[in-house]
Amino acid sequence: MSELEVSGLRVAHGDLVAVWDASLDLLPGRITALVGRNGAGKTTLLSGICGLLPVTAGQVVLAGEDVTALPPWQRARRGLAIVQEGKRVFRELTVRENILLGHRSRRGKGEREVTDLYDRFPMLAQRREERAGALSGGQQQMLAIATALAAGPRVLLVDEPSSGLAPVVVDQVFDLLQGLRAEGLAILLVEQLVDEVLNGIADDVVVLDRGRVTARDSATNLTASAVAGSIYSVDP
Ligand code: ATP
Repeated sequence: MSELEVSGLRVAHGDLVAVWDASLDLLPGRITALVGRNGAGKTTLLSGICGLLPVTAGQVVLAGEDVTALPPWQRARRGLAIVQEGKRVFRELTVRENILLGHRSRRGKGEREVTDLYDRFPMLAQRREERAGALSGGQQQMLAIATALAAGPRVLLVDEPSSGLAPVVVDQVFDLLQGLRAEGLAILLVEQLVDEVLNGIADDVVVLDRGRVTARDSATNLTASAVAGSIYSVDP
């Protein structure tokens, strides 16, 4: 069964409709890449899914429950987490405080999960009492993901986690996402690195072009050139 089913979603910024009738399914233990050129509407779609922008048509169904009318925090309580692009962490708070903010919106209760989280991120455990702003960009991205995980999600939306990071750090982030997939999380990943998306990390791909979903298929069925054609206005 789908962890997240989006059907016919229309999302607007005021009068400007930026996403038209988008549909996608996220399955447990699979990474779905959402690709498309700049301005295609990827971030807008993520915002509509998690309730940060109002939707004017369509439905968001999370683990069988229609959450379209629910505010973001209630969707978070039901297991939907987002890592927004660029808005990595609260820099003035400590690592521990950032993680606790995520933990406050978790489904159910339990300190154990936070301990498990530190086992997964020993670097964050070591730097627990430091200001998040003192971490490197890659470490802040890891903290942003850790904070999302602290909420105990079943579905994770991640907006361009590779942006601004060195390739070696990008590999670490992708390794982490693959580990989470192996644990059964359903992941929607916005990513511009087409080769990485098709040759490894993504199981499924959704292509967004000028606000519309133009292709949905498994990564093995979509050729790099078909995807690249939807991402670059000229040949890369
Ligand atoms: P990028 O890869 O550059 O992040 P994207 O695919 O995520 O692009 P969006 O950021 O969702 O695309 O933008 C989709 C459309 O909505 C664009 O035309 C953009 O100009 C517009 N848009 C985005 N944010 C706003 C906003 N806050 N107010 C008005 N229009 C916006």
